[in-house]
Amino acid sequence: MSRSSSLLGQMYATLADTYGPQHWWPGETPLEVVVGAYLTQNTSWRGVELSIKNLKAENLLHLEGLRGVSEEELRILIRPSGFMLRKAAAIKTFIAFLDREHDGSLAQLAANPTESVRNQLLALPGVGPETADAILLYALDHPVMVVDEYLRRLVTRHGLLHEKARYAEIQQIALNAFVEDDANTRAQHYNEFHALIVELGKRHCKGKARCETCPLSASIFHPPLLPIADDLHLDASEVRRAQTKRLEAPRLASDNRDKGAANPRERRQ
Ligand code: SF4
Repeated sequence: MSRSSSLLGQMYATLADTYGPQHWWPGETPLEVVVGAYLTQNTSWRGVELSIKNLKAENLLHLEGLRGVSEEELRILIRPSGFMLRKAAAIKTFIAFLDREHDGSLAQLAANPTESVRNQLLALPGVGPETADAILLYALDHPVMVVDEYLRRLVTRHGLLHEKARYAEIQQIALNAFVEDDANTRAQHYNEFHALIVELGKRHCKGKARCETCPLSASIFHPPLLPIADDLHLDASEVRRAQTKRLEAPRLASDNRDKGAANPRERRQ
């Protein structure tokens, strides 16, 4: 296991000790989780809650309901979560996909290998890696790690990856942190780790970091950058740039990446 993955594992243990069990995701059924994953893109969780409430009030938050509702009516019901044209079309497309490819069964979809399900989801309109992984993990119980802005902030502020690390790079070091566990245990850890990182982001690792009281402020969580970068096979100029940036913008510095976060726990404040 790489040093960065090992460090993430230690961070997870510390956060679990500090914050306790998180009990995610806020959704009563897997289908509600899927709909929530679409609705939460680029909006507040409060808006998602109102949209879900509207759908439940009309008794539409089940396959038959979403199959039968017109796209126009769906737009009106999900208006509180914004981007209603795009999101209503994407949700209807997902239901049509489920019917066409998996007999309308989320369980049948979930029975496929993780990579296959992920590719099928990514081929749908309105589904990027974060949404696909949220559906995989929280609706279909597959062992994947959701990479959001909070996790990106954590790994870059602690020098585990460079500022411009891609989604897949961040995901890989997080996945590797639990590589020795079996699939079921890994899914539980990824579920809990994502929730804990969101909690960390809400309480401490905000746009402007509040390191003074953060459970991850201990020096063991701020290792020298070079050995870890070397571990990740970064080239020398990349390492120098990252190190300079880290020194110039130490962990108390803010960044402006809040805008992209689309996370229920953050939005529920
Ligand atoms: S608030 Fe500071 S110590 Fe805590 S995770 Fe963010 S950068 Fe690290």
